Amino acid sequence: MTEFAHLRHGMVDVQLARRGIRDRRVLNVMKQIPREQFVEPGFEEFAYEDGALPIANGQTISQPYIVALMTEAAELKPPDKVLEVGTGSGYAAAVASRLAKTVHTIERHEDLARVAAGRLAALGYDNCIVHTGDGTRGLLEAAPFDAILVAAGGPIVPDALKRQLSIGGRLVIPVGDSEQEQSLLRITRWSDTEYDEETFGAVRFVPLIGEQGWAEDGTRSASNHVPGRTHFRSLTEMIGAAVEPLPSFCDPDFGALFDRFAHSRVVLLGEASHGTSEFYQARAAITRHLIEKHGFTTVAVEAGLA
Ligand code: SAM
Repeated sequence: MTEFAHLRHGMVDVQLARRGIRDRRVLNVMKQIPREQFVEPGFEEFAYEDGALPIANGQTISQPYIVALMTEAAELKPPDKVLEVGTGSGYAAAVASRLAKTVHTIERHEDLARVAAGRLAALGYDNCIVHTGDGTRGLLEAAPFDAILVAAGGPIVPDALKRQLSIGGRLVIPVGDSEQEQSLLRITRWSDTEYDEETFGAVRFVPLIGEQGWAEDGTRSASNHVPGRTHFRSLTEMIGAAVEPLPSFCDPDFGALFDRFAHSRVVLLGEASHGTSEFYQARAAITRHLIEKHGFTTVAVEAGLA
C-alpha cells in the first residue's frame, strides 16, 4: 500500500467510521478516491487531515467527514442521476460518481470548473459532467435528479432545486441565516407538492452565491429576499435574532423545544454561569426529554451533579 493509500484508509477509519458514517459503500469509495490529487499543489501532505483545505478563487475542498455525511444522507444508488452544486476541486463529485450512474456538477467560477473537469477526466471519472453557472437555478436541461447535493451554504432552500428533484429524490443542502453556520438539511420529495425535511446538525460552508443564494456582497440576492429577515453583520445582531423565549422548566413544552435535536448523535449542553439553579433545572429537563422521548442512551457529565 502506498503512503497516501495508508493515510486514506486511516482517514476513513478514524474520521468517518468512528464518527458515525455507517454506509459501507460510502466508506469503501472514500478509501479509493485519491484526495491528494484534488488538493492544490503543495497541499498533498495535508490531504487526509480532518478539515477543509483552500483551493483557488478563495474556495475550499470540503472536510472528508462532511463529504461522507452529505453523500450518505443523499442515499445514492447505482441508477441515480445526481446534481452537485459547487464543484470546487471535483472531489465530492468523484465520490458521488462511484455510487451513482451520472453526476452533473456545476460551479460558478469558470477557472475552478475548467480545472476540475480536466482533473476528473484525467483520473477517469467519466460519468461526471462539469458545468459552469449559477447552481441555485439547478440544471433544467438535465433535470429531474434523484439526488442534489449542495456544497455551499445559502439563506434558503432554492425553489428551483426542489422542483428539479424526481419523486423520491433527496436534496442535501446547508441552509442558514448567517455565513458562519448553517443546518445541514435533507429535503425528500414525495409528490408534486409534498416534501419532508430532516436536519443533520450544524455545519459551516462557504457561501452559496447566486440568484437564490447570497449576493456577492453577502446580502440576500433580490430574488430570495424575505422581508424582516436580514443578513447579520455583527454577533450581537445575530444573537438578538436567534434567542428564543423559553417556557417554565416544568412545562412539557420546554422539553419539546429540544425535539429538533432528536436525530443528533451527540448533544452538548452548556452555558456560561457554571452553576445557577436555572441551568441545572434546564439541563435535567432537556436530558430527561431526550432520554424518554428520543431514546438517548448515554449521558457524559463534565460538571457536578445537582
Ligand atoms: N464539492 C467541492 C469539492 O469537493 O471540492 C467543494 C466545494 S466548495 C466548499 C463550494 C463551491 O461552491 C465553491 O467552489 C464555490 O465557488 C461554489 N459555489 C458557490 N455558489 C455557487 C453557485 N450558485 N453555483 C455553483 N457553484 C457555487
